[in-house]
Amino acid sequence: MEFIDLKAQYQQVEDKIKVRIDQVLSHGKYIMGPEVQELEEKLADYVGVKHCISCANGTDALQLALMAMGIGPGDVVIVPPFTFFATAEAVKLVGAEPLFVDVDPETFNMCPLALERSILESEAEVKDRLKAVIVVDLFGAPADYTKISMIANEYGLAVIEDGAQGMGGSIEDKKSCSFGDISTTSFFPAKPLGCYGDGGALFTNDQEYAEQLRSLRVHGKGVDKYDNVRIGMNSRLDTIQAAILLEKLSIFDSELKSRNLVAQRYLNGLKLKEVRLPAIPSGFCSSWAQFTLTCENRMPLLDALKTADIPVGIYYPSSINKSKLFEIQSACPVSESLASRVMSLPMHPYLTTEDQDAVIQVLNEL
Ligand SMILES: *Cc1c(COP(=O)(O)O)cnc(C)c1O
Repeated sequence: MEFIDLKAQYQQVEDKIKVRIDQVLSHGKYIMGPEVQELEEKLADYVGVKHCISCANGTDALQLALMAMGIGPGDVVIVPPFTFFATAEAVKLVGAEPLFVDVDPETFNMCPLALERSILESEAEVKDRLKAVIVVDLFGAPADYTKISMIANEYGLAVIEDGAQGMGGSIEDKKSCSFGDISTTSFFPAKPLGCYGDGGALFTNDQEYAEQLRSLRVHGKGVDKYDNVRIGMNSRLDTIQAAILLEKLSIFDSELKSRNLVAQRYLNGLKLKEVRLPAIPSGFCSSWAQFTLTCENRMPLLDALKTADIPVGIYYPSSINKSKLFEIQSACPVSESLASRVMSLPMHPYLTTEDQDAVIQVLNEL
């Protein structure tokens, strides 16, 4: 049994992907070839925003978003501590400092109450430097953007949506990666929409941000890459990866349906009293990047699954606010406690009901 089965997915699109890759090899435009623009148009359309700007990976996407907003040394950016390291790392990469705001124990996403409390209670010296908040759609479910955007607005903070795991999720009829002033995603192979290497993208409705991002990803180019008008990065999506993503995007909605069926089967089948199952707020849709349980003592569950040769993941084993690499200290008790209680079960669109029932049975027998 695979935790995430990329081979099963490849079998669905193998012929089409080979044709697409062959086309790239024939035209030879390996950097910024026609497939890149085709993908950007289709993704912008899919997400429902005006501009999609692809780039080299999800970490660069966050860094580019911060750069486009002019965030740098001296600035403070709010981030959740229960996420992949890159969310906070990007803030440091532009020379700013993260301020960690705790997450909600039910959704794992940034808690709006904690956000406002943290803004109000931070020392004047920190408060004056606050510029933006990076909100993560952890495990595929969007954060509570209605409340978070209202608070951000009130305190003059820009919103960056880290949708690395969120692609395909939604709130009512609004898709993930459309909730930030700038939103980002990652096409790392294991993400809900992944390519066969590294890749990423940014989304925005703001024309000015879009123009800056297109410049920033190619060495701060002006009219061309030898006319440099700002310090940028070398962060482009390979044409071959765009070609692969075009075919993966064509089956993405049907994969999302399968992911939801898998999630529902877990939700209906798992009966352990001491386990809390993931809760998606009403009106929200998750892309089910992960199916994550919480349990006071996860050791017996991990042991039983290991004995049965069933793969599990722990996302994330530590709360980033505990790292010594960041200057501003803050207590995040929910995140710190989650780090010792979470575990994620195999989750992908091609998980068979037999395999899934095996997981459910091992756990229910405890
Ligand atoms: C994967 C991930 C990233 C980084 O994406 P890369 O493409 O690996 O650089 C950033 N934030 C979150 C929440 C992620 O899950």
